[in-house]
Amino acid sequence: SDTDSELGQLAGILNASFDHVQKAVTELQEALERQSRFVADASHELRTPVAVVLAEASSALARERTPDEYREALEACCQTARRMRRLVESLLLLARVEAGQTSNPRAVCELDRITQEAVALLRSIANEQCVSLQLETQSTQCFGNSDELGQIGMNLVSNAIHYNRPGGAVLVSVDAEDGFAVLRVEDNGQGIPKESLPHVFERFYRVDQSRSSTSGRLGLGLAITKALVEAHSGTITVTSVLGEGSTFTVRLPLAGQMVADATCAT
Ligand code: ADP
Repeated sequence: SDTDSELGQLAGILNASFDHVQKAVTELQEALERQSRFVADASHELRTPVAVVLAEASSALARERTPDEYREALEACCQTARRMRRLVESLLLLARVEAGQTSNPRAVCELDRITQEAVALLRSIANEQCVSLQLETQSTQCFGNSDELGQIGMNLVSNAIHYNRPGGAVLVSVDAEDGFAVLRVEDNGQGIPKESLPHVFERFYRVDQSRSSTSGRLGLGLAITKALVEAHSGTITVTSVLGEGSTFTVRLPLAGQMVADATCAT
């Protein structure tokens, strides 16, 4: 009857709305969980440097010291405070990029030129570490913010140099492949153990946790890189063989592709 079919329709609508609400609640729950994990991770990372500053300062105050001893204590405080500042700045950047809140202007960018500039800034560090740095680029345009795209290249190349070995090599390439702008950073350095590969993009994840506090590395570079890539509608992947090297591949929509998509959508 009519009533039956109306009731059926109503049940259908209610079911669909229920699904929507349930999905929204799940998403909200996940966002809250991410948020509290973020706060927990950040607090955990800040606890150590705060403890160091406190210990240095209180032991300097505990009894009369020589000027040299005071200087040493102050230098330790400064160094640790600098690390905290970098940590806080990186965390704020990560939070902003993950929340899609960077208001940096976007335009059609020459990914090859931006990458060349990023690599040029790292050349002296590569020389210092006796790592050769090669660049192969084809004119490739994508849509985005040039500072943020430059940061992606900087982070990947600086890791490829840092986790290398004397006499090692880094090959950076930019070209268009299958409708994507592709930035590839390949090194023949230490490589990443298989079990660590799924985790390297997580914030604060480091393969060698023990060396992190002395090396000044924060374990945030790849998390920021991934967030920046995703903010540009791109993807980032890694392949690696322990002891042989790693390859990070970033794929971004080509500039023409973005315009075509936007035209289709309207
Ligand atoms: P970090 O500040 O420790 O370098 P990242 O987020 O940039 O943090 O990288 C996370 C971890 O992934 C590093 O601690 C390192 O163990 C590993 N890693 C990143 N890039 C490379 C690479 N090119 N070769 C080997 N290991 C790498």
